[in-house]
Amino acid sequence: MNKDIGKPNVYSGMKILHHEERFRQWLQYEFEMDKTGESDNMIYPIMVEMHLNTRACNHNCFLEDIRGCGGNWPIKNTQWTRQEGLNFLNQLKTAEVKSIPFSGGGEPMFHPNFDEFLSEASTFADVGLITHGGRIDSFSRAKSIVEKATWVRVSIGGATEETYRGRHGIGRTEVQNCWRGLEYLIQARKEVIKEREFIGMPESVCTIGVGFLTNSQVSHEIYPLTGIVREIGADYLSVRPDHYSTDDSSFLIEKARSDFQNQSFSVFAPYMKFNNMGEQIKKINPLIEVPYKDHFSTVAGGDGEGNLDCFNVNREQGDYGNFIKDSFETVWRSQVRVKKLKSFLKDPRTHYRSHYDITSKYLTDFRQAYLVTNSEAEREDLVQSWILNRDQNVKHVNFINN
Ligand code: SF4
Repeated sequence: MNKDIGKPNVYSGMKILHHEERFRQWLQYEFEMDKTGESDNMIYPIMVEMHLNTRACNHNCFLEDIRGCGGNWPIKNTQWTRQEGLNFLNQLKTAEVKSIPFSGGGEPMFHPNFDEFLSEASTFADVGLITHGGRIDSFSRAKSIVEKATWVRVSIGGATEETYRGRHGIGRTEVQNCWRGLEYLIQARKEVIKEREFIGMPESVCTIGVGFLTNSQVSHEIYPLTGIVREIGADYLSVRPDHYSTDDSSFLIEKARSDFQNQSFSVFAPYMKFNNMGEQIKKINPLIEVPYKDHFSTVAGGDGEGNLDCFNVNREQGDYGNFIKDSFETVWRSQVRVKKLKSFLKDPRTHYRSHYDITSKYLTDFRQAYLVTNSEAEREDLVQSWILNRDQNVKHVNFINN
């Protein structure tokens, strides 16, 4: 596999170039740090992924030991109170955060204030939702999500009921609930499109996709699942290797892509995460040394802990401060975060996936080129050329790496 694109391209490591001001600020920060070891430039994140709880969910995925969620994960469930969540969102608004995906941790729709958080966040930022879909139990519930969210991705456990039940530890009814939730979303979107066409703004309607985590036991279901998901009317299927999979499913994904992809349906797969999986697991050849992306996107766990990325959430190696105990501003400006960001990938406990972040790879290359310039004019030319040549086909630019 040699590309990770589909149409429209909602996943791209180059989205950062659509945020010229913050991108320039970051380059300046890196330049000053390199020359003098200090900088007053502070880059606020573009995206804050918010987990509403640490593990609440009615599924019992066999991935939970590595996802940090679900029935058997050995941590207690913690969640934001209504007031803590609303305060935090208010602080993100002040910091001009541009996107907030709600994800897990556990299942975001298990939080009693989920609807209120979603509504509040959508008043100032683009909102995304990753859910198993089983709690989308009516057309009206689906419609209220579709009206507010920029995108929703429903995580599906398999093409067949047997596989789905086995992987998620659930019964037949819950499998049906999850598929029904997806169908409600698709129906609701048709309604919202009609309503928006009526008022002349049809273009801004929620993208609906399906996520499938694959491994050697289930990769044969990629192909039939792609057909089912397209038939239902979703915009895309995103296939990713599960967190410790060593399976290279490139061939199967390419086949599904070539047979099912069309103008209104895409198959996405992060090629980098599939290539040389064995090597990646051993961290023989890490792609990056510093996760520069973490200047622009971060994660707030269900316990309020700020974490550099979702792979390490609920784990000490990525935590850098608590947004419930301290203000967003205090935690974000803290030296703990800045130091941790620099040393993060040297910690042997860091999940290997964190060593293969494509946005950080692009940023590493930009930084390197910027730092070896000889004059301000040269630096300006360089930045101009990157911005001019950025990919115009990218969608959801406010969602860094999502
Ligand atoms: S469905 Fe998602 S949130 Fe629920 S246990 Fe499985 S991985 Fe965790």
